[in-house]
Amino acid sequence: MKLPAVETMATIIPLKPVPTDALATESANAFLRAAAQAPAHAGPVADAHGRGLSDLRISVTDRCNFRCVYCMPKDVFDGDYQYLPHADLLTFEEIARVAKVFVGLGVRKIRLTGGEPLLRRNLERLVEMLARLGELDLTLTTNGTLLAKKAKSLRDAGLSRVTVSLDSLDDATFRAMNDVDFPVAGVLAGIDAAAAAGLAPLKINMVVKAGVSEASIVPMARHFRGTGHIVRFIEYMDVGATNGWRMDDVVPAAEIVRLIDAELPLAPAEPNYSGEVAQRWRYADGGGEIGVIASVTQAFCRDCTRARLSTEGKLHTCLFATHGHDLRDLLRGGFSDAQVSNAIAAVWSRRADRYSELRTAATARAPKVEMSYIGG
Ligand code: SAM
Repeated sequence: MKLPAVETMATIIPLKPVPTDALATESANAFLRAAAQAPAHAGPVADAHGRGLSDLRISVTDRCNFRCVYCMPKDVFDGDYQYLPHADLLTFEEIARVAKVFVGLGVRKIRLTGGEPLLRRNLERLVEMLARLGELDLTLTTNGTLLAKKAKSLRDAGLSRVTVSLDSLDDATFRAMNDVDFPVAGVLAGIDAAAAAGLAPLKINMVVKAGVSEASIVPMARHFRGTGHIVRFIEYMDVGATNGWRMDDVVPAAEIVRLIDAELPLAPAEPNYSGEVAQRWRYADGGGEIGVIASVTQAFCRDCTRARLSTEGKLHTCLFATHGHDLRDLLRGGFSDAQVSNAIAAVWSRRADRYSELRTAATARAPKVEMSYIGG
């Protein structure tokens, strides 16, 4: 298959993470404050390419108990790494308030993420507050380490379902990828608890890194076939600036499908809805489905309706963003919900991001916010 222009690029040297406090400048805050005071905006918004705003990802912590080599490499996220101080984090009340404003602008799906969202204390309380916002698809992405303990209380609080990340069923490979020696069995226990609690359909995210986890693709598909859980194979992406991403590390989605199809025949399935991140494939024998997320080789920017709210309240309009818009400044600055809504609408209506469609060797190397900060 033809790969994008970055195919032949040389090794990228890991950079230091973008300091989060440098991401919002005074002029950006001035723009947001002025937009907040513009004539009121009500109802759904569309961006510069006509894309609506239907999906909100909220990062509730920039901390994680894993050091996945492709996300929070140990040599950068070490004992000296400066995480956000607690006072900088949005409170649950602030998150619920801004989420309600997003719902007014058309958001119908909210995903809690991080960092590792289950590390945020009393997360169930936030889930309860968000569940009260109405008919939402309310979900969460987790590494599964704390899920066995928390699945039932999350479900009771109103969580609809959950996505669990698991990069390999091979214990040695998985321990090497999470880089904290956490065993596969611990995550599988979390998956079982989530299923027992009714957090379904359960999705399982596997990031595929060439030379590291290709051999885990077919065993992963085979293990979850027939369980009702949906494995989603994710192309390794150039998010952030610390993981030393190279195009050579990407296993194209077409190759992932080819490998599975050779052993467990697949047929393409229609998307559940426009803008769905994963391409769906069904097992020909009725054993369920898988998804592939081909952000690198088959960019899906044209359907992207996702906004991201960082742990400290910055609005990012693309996973590959270099800066965010400081909503916390408005939330803590005496602005009304209608004014916060105006500001978000102003940012969204100017949104022209289509990073993955325009990816080059230079953009892949450029500083971007880290996935652990912006939320996966
Ligand atoms: N800690 C939670 C977890 O492990 O699912 C939520 C945050 S994590 C950043 C969200 C998802 O992003 C995980 O499935 C992770 O594997 C994926 N991810 C992180 N870095 C990635 C990268 N460079 N390329 C593709 N997926 C990545």
